[in-house]
Amino acid sequence: MEVEVGTLITPYGVRHNAKLQLEGEGSLYVETAIVPGFSDAHAHPQVVDVGEGLWNDAYEWIAKRTLKVDEVALRADLEFSSKLAAAVMVKGLLEGVTMMALVGRGEANVLAYRRLPAKPRLVILPTILDSRAGWLNSWNALNLAISLSSLDGAVPVGLFAHSLGHVTPASLKAAYRATRELNIPFGLHLSEGIDELSKLVSFLDLKEGDDSRIVAVHCISGSGYKNYGIRVVHCPLSNLKLFGRTLSNVKEVDALGSDWPLLLGSVLSTYRAAVKLHGMEHALYLLDRATAGGYRIYGLDWRGDVVAFDEPLEKVIEGESTPVFVAVKGKLLVKERVVTDLSLNSTEIDKTIAKLLRFAKDAYPAKEG
Ligand SMILES: [Zn+2]
Repeated sequence: MEVEVGTLITPYGVRHNAKLQLEGEGSLYVETAIVPGFSDAHAHPQVVDVGEGLWNDAYEWIAKRTLKVDEVALRADLEFSSKLAAAVMVKGLLEGVTMMALVGRGEANVLAYRRLPAKPRLVILPTILDSRAGWLNSWNALNLAISLSSLDGAVPVGLFAHSLGHVTPASLKAAYRATRELNIPFGLHLSEGIDELSKLVSFLDLKEGDDSRIVAVHCISGSGYKNYGIRVVHCPLSNLKLFGRTLSNVKEVDALGSDWPLLLGSVLSTYRAAVKLHGMEHALYLLDRATAGGYRIYGLDWRGDVVAFDEPLEKVIEGESTPVFVAVKGKLLVKERVVTDLSLNSTEIDKTIAKLLRFAKDAYPAKEG
């Protein structure tokens, strides 16, 4: 299939009257297209409730928040957790997300990926959290990562340490070392309200000029992450919701994350918010981070990943357009705003998500006290 594109945006620049090839017969004309599509570099598909209120930092939020849903019980339900992950992937795909890095319940995320006929590329990062019941320590997470990657080689698996405050230094070190030896991604929440860079540097014995390849999510406090080869994932929407503030230096940003896609929308919403926050003068830079950014930090190929719009470049770079066509690995998965293999459009997936959120509150209410 030949796709004629009025304006094509790629990581190498903007081209007019370009042609793209996809699988299948026929031809298409689209006004604007981006290669690759949007990448969500950090998402929790099992987060359905974050509580209310403004906090100083993530540690205070986790310690003092009141949730309506029992997260541990929800995550223990593999089937329901995988339905949530599937809804996140389908919603993302309809909004032009061609790559996602999912944390949370690894088995559920892989199960959803394997069952769905149409989905974005995926990176799975099981979460290590030593300080709480119902989570994995680094040894169990590593075992899970190895068994998941042998189960389905199509999905790269890495490790995600929850945060410096919720993972022991020994666990953090072991997990990081294992990811370097296996050459798989390593991520963590970092500096979510408190500057934690020097603590991370000392725990992992990083040196200035190192290419640590650590994927650090948030980094709303502190600076100098690039000096250690740390890749920063910016999640402005969840930061503003929890803390009323977010990362201010746009040049620190390597990729964008929706963080809680079931509550805040796909990374397309994150991108739109980032442009409003940092200004239109940074739009093309942010668009690169919102698309190629996630692929780069996880080392993924983007061949055949395209998102296409029937609106002009200006609308697309404001983040105000939703795509008409979306292709992953050269295969057209969204046609005329419908995931054809599932006969699902945006309105229907939003209804499904609302239903899933209601079910979570009914089936897994938080325990009193
Ligand atoms: Zn997160």
